[in-house]
Amino acid sequence: MELNDQEMINFMQHLRSKGLRAAILYGGEPTLRPEVYRAATKIFDATLIFTNGTNGLPELNNGQWILSLDGTKDVNDLIRGEGVYDRVIKNLCEAPRPPIVHMTISRLNQERIDDFVKEMMKFPIKGIGFSFYTPRRGLIDSRFLISLAERDRLVMHLLSLRQKYGEKIGFTLAMARQLLTNGDFSKWNKFSSCPVSKRVRCFKSDGQPKACTYGDDADCSRCGCAAVVAYRGAFKPLNYQTLRLILGLMVPEIEANRLTLGGLLVPFQKRFH
Ligand code: SF4
Repeated sequence: MELNDQEMINFMQHLRSKGLRAAILYGGEPTLRPEVYRAATKIFDATLIFTNGTNGLPELNNGQWILSLDGTKDVNDLIRGEGVYDRVIKNLCEAPRPPIVHMTISRLNQERIDDFVKEMMKFPIKGIGFSFYTPRRGLIDSRFLISLAERDRLVMHLLSLRQKYGEKIGFTLAMARQLLTNGDFSKWNKFSSCPVSKRVRCFKSDGQPKACTYGDDADCSRCGCAAVVAYRGAFKPLNYQTLRLILGLMVPEIEANRLTLGGLLVPFQKRFH
């Protein structure tokens, strides 16, 4: 059963006492549990909170909103529901501090990345990050699935967008190398070699552990996780451009020298209004 607010806060305090210093809250909609996300920003040195943005982006004293959007209005609303895009853009424009926008690239939106990026550049955002859709093990086909060969092409295209728009495109050459099939992808696309299995602890909303943010049956051999790509891009080998990108997620909320890369991932049950 899902932990209630106080149980979740106690749980996070317990994890902090064990040494976890950074947290990512995601899944469902964390803004539906304001007591919990506000507590997280006080408990941890750095907290990133993924939101669908429909309930606004309130001030965070020591945290960063990551706003999930899947494309321009037509594509986003096809995936997330009619009217969502306009509501989220209104909230984005009224936010006290700019969020980071996050797009999960899938077959449904892969041809609209340029349109989306161009549109986002008009709004007050801190930057845009990209993940690629990660399927479950054994999934042969779905309307979201992209082949790895096709993904390679899109990865190179993201680099061209960074050249065009600059550092607001949160995707570096070192990150691209982590995803390319002729790059470093094979070095980490197994659970045993993925940094998540060594450096990150993931939990369900009932406090029970799970293997990964994508669940227990995610297909590591086709993983498109931006967090892993950014982490490995920054440290395997050391790459200052990507390191600065990671610090940009946290700063000015924490001093760079306090940053730890061990993290907590806490999902919330899906409870939409
Ligand atoms: S699915 Fe999860 S554990 Fe597997 S490679 Fe991706 S981030 Fe790592």
